[in-house]
Amino acid sequence: MKVTRVTCHLLQSKVDRPFTSARGWLYTTRSSCVVEIETDAGITGWGECYGPAAVNKALIETQYAPRLIGRDPFDVEVVWEDLYNRIKDYGAQGFSITALSGIDIALWDIMGRATGLPIHKLIGGAYRKEIRAYATGLYFTDMDRLVEEAVEEALEYKAQGFRAIKMKIGLGDPKLDFRRVKAVRDAIGPEIALAVDANHCFTVPQAIRLGRMLEELDLLWFEEPVSPEDHAGYAQVTQALDLAVAGGENDFTRWGFREVIATKAMDIVQPDVCAAGGISEMRKIATLASAFGVECVPHAWGSAIGLAATVQFLAALPDQPPAFRPIPPMLEFEQTPNPLRDILAKEPITQQGGIVRVPEGPGLGIEVDREVLARFKVA
Ligand code: CA
Repeated sequence: MKVTRVTCHLLQSKVDRPFTSARGWLYTTRSSCVVEIETDAGITGWGECYGPAAVNKALIETQYAPRLIGRDPFDVEVVWEDLYNRIKDYGAQGFSITALSGIDIALWDIMGRATGLPIHKLIGGAYRKEIRAYATGLYFTDMDRLVEEAVEEALEYKAQGFRAIKMKIGLGDPKLDFRRVKAVRDAIGPEIALAVDANHCFTVPQAIRLGRMLEELDLLWFEEPVSPEDHAGYAQVTQALDLAVAGGENDFTRWGFREVIATKAMDIVQPDVCAAGGISEMRKIATLASAFGVECVPHAWGSAIGLAATVQFLAALPDQPPAFRPIPPMLEFEQTPNPLRDILAKEPITQQGGIVRVPEGPGLGIEVDREVLARFKVA
């Protein structure tokens, strides 16, 4: 089988009620670079790249696609190494890897469709057929009702069946952050797991101070306390707090994660399958994490394609650690408005009682709805 064509679809949808995180930019649109790879066997695979879609599209079209034509999708890791080694002089991190991730996912999708097997069967098998999902939301929308809106949204997720929620922090005032998180914890009760995400807005002392305040609220983890390039800062925060520290959605490849994991700068690493290098590289990062006793709980923020790829990967991710009653890795199921996540697949991935079933169909286990693809395609 040979690759015959590589197409990048730039999809975009408007957000009706714009929201913001501690990074301060307002989300008014959601966009995705969706990669479609065709073969001479008539099999088509789909992938997705994390981050600004137009840049991913340009990178794939100018740098990767010409080298992909004629390659066998079953040589997925050979292709990965070839493309990476071609670009690493200029781009060992960032866009070159997010673009490569979309290609890698599409090649795994093709292998699954060619063999009739879901990706999780090709990467070791399912440790679980059902994955516990946590709802990501509780951004900052109404600046006059920051505490009230967080409580209302958290109670909505609880009513929808979620058993775990992740909320945003980083309002520029640790007392207000604490008050908002405590109000949510009090409202949802002790049975619902709760994590916080600062989107790297703190200095090390600020993160440690707020982390100590938050420790009494029984949180799952404190995500992205400090800037992603400050791995030493992460180590300081991780060592200072009893609360688990998570990060890594802005780290790339096994080499990017090597120092973080080997120094245990984070308790939990969160590589994103659409960013860190695709399914192939996620397996290597997870293996590295396992060897050093660091948990791996993937980050996910994308369309139905990225979500499906994350679910396939999670199905094949071992318990950390194995136990009589293990605590399996959870799916990040973000809940902000995004039709690209909700309707791009003909059988969308949904949750019931906080549980997502792993699709058993070939490849990613979803079929892309070409009508929806065309409706949101801007380039
Ligand atoms: Ca995050």
